[in-house]
Amino acid sequence: MGNVPTAVKHCLSYQHLLRDQTWNGDVTTSEQESCLSGFPKYVKIVEVGPRDGLQNEKAFVPTDVKIELINRLSEAGLPVVEVTSFVSSKWVPQMSDHTEVLQGIKMFSGVHYPVLTPNIQGFHSAIAAGAKEVSVFGAASETFSEKNINCSIEESMGRFEEVIRSAHSINVPVRGYVSCVIGCPYEGKIEAHKVAEVSKRLYSMGCYEISLGDTIGVGTPGSIRKMLEAVMKEIPVHALAVHCHDTYGQALANILTSMQMGISVVDCAVAGLGGCPYANGATGNVATEDVLYMLNGLDIHTGVDLYKVMEAGHFICSALNKKTNSKVSLAAFSL
Ligand SMILES: [Zn+2]
Repeated sequence: MGNVPTAVKHCLSYQHLLRDQTWNGDVTTSEQESCLSGFPKYVKIVEVGPRDGLQNEKAFVPTDVKIELINRLSEAGLPVVEVTSFVSSKWVPQMSDHTEVLQGIKMFSGVHYPVLTPNIQGFHSAIAAGAKEVSVFGAASETFSEKNINCSIEESMGRFEEVIRSAHSINVPVRGYVSCVIGCPYEGKIEAHKVAEVSKRLYSMGCYEISLGDTIGVGTPGSIRKMLEAVMKEIPVHALAVHCHDTYGQALANILTSMQMGISVVDCAVAGLGGCPYANGATGNVATEDVLYMLNGLDIHTGVDLYKVMEAGHFICSALNKKTNSKVSLAAFSL
């Protein structure tokens, strides 16, 4: 901590941080009111670490570690924990234990456990394994779609339609992802109208929520605002989520901007796990701990226990033998 005075060190101590976060509550009532205006009162946190995060780990993460992580995240009060992906194990060996993981976790009442289903085969396997909610994963970039899911955007829409139709016939809700909403590792800048077009198609097909992914984390509050303005012309804001990677250190600012525009669903990953195997150098998702810390400071309700998420982050980082990407955890655990 360098030259930080002892009093400040004490103030930053782990237990103190988690007990009452006094510096977050220092503002007077009138200041608090003004700092809160324009933000949603409640934000739904969608935890994507076990899928989006772990999928990028090169070494196979043992099934029992995945299960333990998900159980800890559920215990922390997260309302949605994305569990795994029913993708061919030839493409993503890390997710080859999808059935064991889905069947091995403790399902908490009130918690949603979506799984990724890229096509109808994946969907049938997911349902057979007990999935109650699924997600489809599209892209706003033609080249990214080809490289990531081996088909054009148009072809992917056909596959998703099949999944969504089957899902709805058995009352299974479907979440839609749109990746590369700001930039693409192959095509560069992505036009906002393209994002709006792909999002609108997924929404019209029946996805109840569209998660807009800045997959390589190049967005800024300026570009995020522009993109959201275009998408919000087509889709009601309550059906939109943001999924910000922190590659350029802009994720929290982008989330804050999105919330000011009315977005109240935020994807994030414990310990900032993840990256993108198709985008060289892209770092992980924004850390759940850091998002929670910011939301707590804004007095925005999430129902999630930051302390327990930090412990879950510590657990998975120890298991993976890697350093956390959460600044909040780094600051708190280093003391
Ligand atoms: Zn992600």
